[in-house]
Amino acid sequence: MPVNPPSLDTALLRGFRYGCLPGCGLCCFAEPRIDPSERPGLLRIAPAVDIVEAGGASYLRARPDGGACGLLEELRCSAHAVRPHPCREFPVHVHVGTRLQASLVLSCPGVDLGRLIKNTPDAERAPPVGFDSELASVERRSGPDVARRLKEAGRRRGRLVRALEREGRWVEEEEVRGLLRTHLPRPGPADYPVGDPPSADDGLEFLPIYFDGRAGPVGLGAGLGGWEALELRPSGGVERHLGVVPSPTSPPPLDPGAELFLRGYLRYFLERDLLFASVLPRMAEGGAGTVTEWVEEELREIGAIVVSRASVRAKLARGSTGPLTATDLVAGIRASDQDLMDVPTWGDRL
Ligand code: SF4
Ligand code: SF4
Repeated sequence: MPVNPPSLDTALLRGFRYGCLPGCGLCCFAEPRIDPSERPGLLRIAPAVDIVEAGGASYLRARPDGGACGLLEELRCSAHAVRPHPCREFPVHVHVGTRLQASLVLSCPGVDLGRLIKNTPDAERAPPVGFDSELASVERRSGPDVARRLKEAGRRRGRLVRALEREGRWVEEEEVRGLLRTHLPRPGPADYPVGDPPSADDGLEFLPIYFDGRAGPVGLGAGLGGWEALELRPSGGVERHLGVVPSPTSPPPLDPGAELFLRGYLRYFLERDLLFASVLPRMAEGGAGTVTEWVEEELREIGAIVVSRASVRAKLARGSTGPLTATDLVAGIRASDQDLMDVPTWGDRL
């Protein structure tokens, strides 16, 4: 019997605008997954391309020592016409769970984050701007195979929900959202200091990275008693050491504009199905607390990470010690690897 392709929920794209930033190339510091159908085109344009097989899937290998995908040349894709689907669809991310939910990778500097603080009915209804080709690629791949993945995800989720129900810890996602939309948790002193970024010994590939207009791709690593900013080379390795600032050990003050962005960011996270998909499996492994409590804690931790990175970037850029501004908070969001810069465009954990 033919299976209808599931429809894509694009509500979380409404009101956003996007235009890829020339000379950025940040999302190419990755190993994009390739589908079997994409392999012949890639091999035609780039016969020497390095394809790596892992866990039953194929990927384009990145250059060693934190470098970019082997097809990036002078911050341009040398195989643009046949680039694999994650590259066509970024910064759109699709979560396969109880539905196909599209959301945005907010750490991509091409996404205008103004929508995070505009919550008028007009903004919520406005169509997304600049995502046509990304969404067209997603739609092309929303076929019968995706219906099967959706069903599998439903079964996995069902098992988790039943286990949590037996322990009296289950709360429906919409109930949790309803509660927290109006009482968004705010990071407090107990959430600081956040886990430091990985040390240089862990490898540059593991550093959270962001795009800096002057330096290009910058990774944050633990070094010399604080957070060290390292300008990364697309060919691998470190181009320059940009400075070290101490890790924030308590919540830095935010001005009203920064507060607005923090709330908007956490509200966006709350609406992502991915948030619940990351919490439920960990809850099922043990511990105490309801879904609401776990989600509250997760949001506080995410908020602390974004604020810490905003503070580090503000100190690096201008030695600022005053309250963080809206611009600083946006820089913190851009530097947050909570925001899916390194995960497949289609996630199917639940
Ligand atoms: S990270 Fe965003 S702005 Fe930068 S190259 Fe990728 S899609 Fe473009
Ligand atoms: S295939 Fe092209 S667009 Fe995709 S990561 Fe590599 S260089 Fe970037």
